[in-house]
Amino acid sequence: ARHLFSDPAEVEALRGNLLAWYDRCKRDLPWRALVWVALEPLLSPALLPAVWVSEIMLQQTQVATVIDYYNRWMQKWPTLQALAQASLEEVNELWAGLGYYSRGKRLQEAARKVVSELAGRMPRTAEDLQKLLPGVGRYTAGAIASISYGQATGVVDGNVIRVLCRLRCIGADSSSPAVIDRLWDMANVLVDRSRPGDFNQALMELGATVCVPKAPLCGECPVKQHCQAWHRKLFGKPPKVPDVEDCGVGDCPLCPPATEPWDSSLGVTNFPRKAAKKPPRAMRTATCVLERRGSHGAPEYLIVQRPSSGLLAGLWEFPSLPLAQDLQEEGEREELADHLQAWMGRPVAAKGLQFIGEVIHIFSHIHQTYVVYSLPLDGDVTLDPALSPSRWVTEDEFHASAVSTAMKKV
Ligand code: SF4
Repeated sequence: ARHLFSDPAEVEALRGNLLAWYDRCKRDLPWRALVWVALEPLLSPALLPAVWVSEIMLQQTQVATVIDYYNRWMQKWPTLQALAQASLEEVNELWAGLGYYSRGKRLQEAARKVVSELAGRMPRTAEDLQKLLPGVGRYTAGAIASISYGQATGVVDGNVIRVLCRLRCIGADSSSPAVIDRLWDMANVLVDRSRPGDFNQALMELGATVCVPKAPLCGECPVKQHCQAWHRKLFGKPPKVPDVEDCGVGDCPLCPPATEPWDSSLGVTNFPRKAAKKPPRAMRTATCVLERRGSHGAPEYLIVQRPSSGLLAGLWEFPSLPLAQDLQEEGEREELADHLQAWMGRPVAAKGLQFIGEVIHIFSHIHQTYVVYSLPLDGDVTLDPALSPSRWVTEDEFHASAVSTAMKKV
């Protein structure tokens, strides 16, 4: 009980304080712009919900990066119909550089499904959104249902996890299913019944701007009087809860483990706690920039398309080949030459490949090193059409293509 919100008067006060702060301090973000709110009654249900696009883009990506992508996306595809008619290539081109490319692909698949299977009507409850739309998980479903359609349902994302764990001194592993389930219960209890969308945005905004991971601004926090971590920091112990025995002595599933008790030097940042992440897997990939003179004399580069599933699915890249970790430089060159040969249908001399350098790119779970070679070509090459789709591009065309940030670095 210590870790829950069981007093209705406290819940009411917390909602009021948080919403009043949000009304005063919320950031001006394009997906909160009036234009969408004003357009919605005119175009809805044809309109592509702004919250859906922004929430999908914001998964794993910072607000500052998302804004430009979001604006371009909504200009290009303001309605469900327009997005449903887009090609995957167009989606990948617009998404290029945003990372986690399957997000864009699934957003477009979901729009197609709404248009073709659901008669153009967006599902309006969190349960239906999650059940019916590809790429819409529990969090995104809750965000769309509460913000776009006013359903009184909570949301739990990284920011909310941090805020709730601090408000209620939850120190058990915050990535464990047991803790996550309790946090969802709490979010559903807390959400304001008359302004659910604003309440959810306010809670996330608090985590993004005040209750930040390293140096939270507790002095300015609108809900500090409800925060057990802050109370504990000030007074050395959590506030007394009537009729509740002390936690931490038994095997409370929400308290910090007995082996890692409260550390007073950390203050409120004792919470949340997470099990250590697995280190990213190291990979090496040889990549070759093949260059020829184009018909107007400008250099052109060969790019090929990646398979339609897996990492960076459907994106374009310079011809590349994953390498064994222990290969020496000579071996790398030879493997790359063989790869290019199979692919171009003519011998490629390993010593003709010029080593340019190495490029490191961190994907969420992979530490990737690209070993970069170049090969200038005289005349044309006939590419094997049975292999992956390929094309020659100028530098400008390369940058406008659906290529990943890693390839742009290369
Ligand atoms: Fe977070 Fe501090 Fe506010 Fe508690 S008082 S919710 S720790 S910012």
